[in-house]
Amino acid sequence: MSLTLSNRSANVKPSSTLAITAKAKALRAEGRDIVGFGAGEPDFATPSNICDAAIKAINDGFTKYTPASGITDLKKAVCAKFEKFNHLHYDPDQIIICNGGKHALTNIFDAIINPGDEVIIPAPYWLSYPEMVKLSDGKPVFVYSTAEQGYKVTADLIREAVTDKTKALVLNTPNNPTGMVYSRKDLEEIAALAVEKDFYVVADEMYEALIYTGEDHVSIASLGDEIYKRTITCSGLSKSYAMTGWRVGYAGAPIEITKRMSAMQSHATSNVNSIAQKAALEALTGPTDEMEKMKAEFDRRRQYMYKRLCAMPHLSCLEPEGAFYAFVDASEVCELSYKGKKIENAAGLAAILLDEFDTAVIPCQDFGYPKHIRLSYAISMEQIEKGLDRIENLMKEL
Ligand code: GLU
Repeated sequence: MSLTLSNRSANVKPSSTLAITAKAKALRAEGRDIVGFGAGEPDFATPSNICDAAIKAINDGFTKYTPASGITDLKKAVCAKFEKFNHLHYDPDQIIICNGGKHALTNIFDAIINPGDEVIIPAPYWLSYPEMVKLSDGKPVFVYSTAEQGYKVTADLIREAVTDKTKALVLNTPNNPTGMVYSRKDLEEIAALAVEKDFYVVADEMYEALIYTGEDHVSIASLGDEIYKRTITCSGLSKSYAMTGWRVGYAGAPIEITKRMSAMQSHATSNVNSIAQKAALEALTGPTDEMEKMKAEFDRRRQYMYKRLCAMPHLSCLEPEGAFYAFVDASEVCELSYKGKKIENAAGLAAILLDEFDTAVIPCQDFGYPKHIRLSYAISMEQIEKGLDRIENLMKEL
């Protein structure tokens, strides 16, 4: 047989966050007491009012196709949320409801990228961005930042990467994996550059509700008419409402972009599950006290984790400001040996932690930083304490 497979699919790496999380779950099922600092998935149950809305949708027979881009009530609720929380005005026909934030992002890239277009991705980055850009025939261009820069890129750093092929910049604040938050001033400078050089901004604001410093979340699209026209703002319900499995994300964009995304979605997936849409409507319009409780608990865990990490030998970390990740510099560890073998990189460290200490962490080579690890604090305090004790035991042995 001489049949071949597509070059496009050959170039895509599977998601290591999902793979590591699946492995941790499988080991747990085999009876091992694994602490999983892997995927960013809240340990909380979806709030009961949201589940009840889904059950009601089933009982009411709300189980048929909906418009491919989402039900109008949910789009209106997303608009109201954009207006109130992000100070952004979108009309319902500028909104698309997608199968999770990932699907919103793939729709966006498919809508704006032509073959060879460059998309600037500040590093560290969430590992799916480069793969998504490649799947849309674009070319990821990375701009690196350091701990001294708070792992945030400036407009000046981005400017150095801009070429006549630059189509877009991906901006993720609060950031996965660093937990860093871009200030209004940072964003104003980046917005001015996007307008001057005329490129799109793909604003991934999935963690917008999870900022612990008292600072407000700033949406770059809210900073003026010109940047609004060039920005696609995307978010979802997975993280802040503990709704990872429901798969509801959304984007607000200039109408011509939303139309393209909706047309593609109408062929690819049709609507997001009708029941999940009703659940999302309740999440966005119902009481918010559960969300606030979850956020307060994430904050408590964040402070504990940061304090413990700072006290450990060989590791360093900036205080996370948002999302639910600690981005830990393990470059010193990579120079050391364990059981006579040099650790070399974060993947080596993650393997030792999993095999010998029953602790799953994310090595960040796929996030652009091969000597860093990411720890999620979206797991219980008890698990965090146990996992950090184990990491500390290894650090003390080295
Ligand atoms: N976005 C989450 C994470 O970074 C979930 C897993 C994934 O989709 O990558 O852990």
